[in-house]
Parts: sequence; C-alpha cells; structure tokens
Amino acid sequence: MRLFDPSKPFYKGNLHMHTTVSDGQRTPDEAMDLYQRGGYDFIAITDHWKPSTERWHGSMLCLPGVEIDYNLPGQVIHIVGVGMGAGLMDRVKPRQSAQTGVDLINEEGGRAILAHPLWSLNTPEAVGSLRGLAAAEVYNAVSSFPWNAGRADASGILDVAAAQGHILRWTAADDTHFYNGEDRSAFIQVQADSLTREGILAALDGGRFYASRGPKILQVELTEDRLIIDCEPAARIMFASDLPYVAGRVFEGEGLTHAEYIIQHKRRERFVRCAVYDGEDRQAWTSPMPTRVYR
Ligand SMILES: [Zn+2]
Ligand SMILES: [Zn+2]
Repeated sequence: MRLFDPSKPFYKGNLHMHTTVSDGQRTPDEAMDLYQRGGYDFIAITDHWKPSTERWHGSMLCLPGVEIDYNLPGQVIHIVGVGMGAGLMDRVKPRQSAQTGVDLINEEGGRAILAHPLWSLNTPEAVGSLRGLAAAEVYNAVSSFPWNAGRADASGILDVAAAQGHILRWTAADDTHFYNGEDRSAFIQVQADSLTREGILAALDGGRFYASRGPKILQVELTEDRLIIDCEPAARIMFASDLPYVAGRVFEGEGLTHAEYIIQHKRRERFVRCAVYDGEDRQAWTSPMPTRVYR
C-alpha cells in the first residue's frame, strides 16, 4: 500500500488555533491573514465552545472548527471538532461525557481529534476508551516552552496506547493562542483530491496525511514485510513499533532520503511507524500503522 500519489499536490493545514473569540491574542481576520501569508492552504479556527464557520480567506480554506473540553479525575480531555455543521452547539454541552462530544461531532458531519494528550495528562486507557476519533495530536506546539511545561510531543503516550491496541492516526497542530512563535510551526500535509471541506475530510478518513514541524515526507509504503519511507533530505529516519528494541531501526547521516524497515513478523510486531528528523531535531511523523498481525 502506497499512501501518496506522486502526481497529486499536498495541502498544508493547521486544524487547531484560537482567536479573540475565545482566549487567543489575534482576531480571526488577523489570524487568517497570518496563516495565509505563511503559505497555508487550509486552517480551522477552533475557539473554546465557540464554533467558526466555513469560509474562504483568499485562496485559503477555513473549515468550521471548535474545541470542547471535559474534566476527569487526574486529567482533562480536549476534543477538536472540524468540518461539522452548525447544529453541533445546540446538542453538545460541557456536562456530557467526552465520548458524547466525539459522537455528536461525528453525527453533525465533522471529525473529532484528541488534542494535546500529554498536556492533558491523558492515560493510554483514557485515549483507548474514546471511540470514533479521526486522529490525535502527536504534537501540539503551544504545549512546549515558553508557554507550557514541555509537553508538546505526545508520541510516547500514543505509542503506549497503540501497543495496547488503540492505534490512532496522528496530526500536529499549533494550538495557537499567543502568536509569538507557536503559530505556523506544527501542521499536517494532506493529499486531498480537492481543496474543499469534502476533500480534506475524505483524506483524513483515508489517512492520506502526515504530521510535521518542518521535514517533508514524500512517500510511505507499507508492504507485507516492510515500511518504506521516501523524504526530502533528513538527518535521521527512525522506525518505532510496539517492540521495545529492534536492531537497526534508526538511520542517521547527511541528506537521508530513503529508509526501509523490516517488519518483525516472527516477533509478532503489531504496529509500525516512522519519524523523519531534520538537522534541528524537528520531526515529521507518519501515523502508526497496523501490521498484518492486526489486519
Ligand atoms: Zn485544549
Ligand atoms: Zn486549543
């Protein structure tokens, strides 16, 4: 299975950001201008409990978006909803369960993304208990320094969840609030048939995207026996899975553009994924993918 079609373009997007409609530091117009100037093809403004509506800002598509949140003992659960219709807020309430929030986003035609699971101190059990998530944020820029306690990268907890059988797709997002460095830093690259709401949502459903802080992935190929990556020149390519140790899973050098990982079927390896690093240690991530042990 090859994830991407070399003849099709990628669309760059940020599906999690705030404005003065809730606790963000820029107005929606200022935020849209900033992202459009940054070369983004689509965004979703996701203010807390205040949904945005679909619109075009020049050539940039703004998907409907909202963020809803719930408190559990020892953790919080924040869900970003994108692409849904206007009826959601008549139905979704803070005192419902997070699962109800996810269900209602899906029923209203949207997609639900688990936001910043490490910042939220989510347990793998909590992550795994949610049904109907389109993705989870492997990286949430504002969860790091200087705004937060360095909990941006949730790959560890999401690996643990995947090893327990809860394999989610991974996005990266800015969760922009301050607009002083976290903006335009973490994003997804989506290969959609069209830059439309339907096109982006279909690509999310099909897993035709990757998360990044800069590095570019060109192709992801999963065969019966291998995970094969092509990328723009990178400093490190790393393959991770549910097996704690596999020899030769890290490739380092100058200008790496290709790497292959042999799936450890004899050891019943259950999922595999890849991360590509640039010289400044910024990553791009594929989603974890089930091996034939799962399929
Ligand atoms: Zn949040
Ligand atoms: Zn947020």
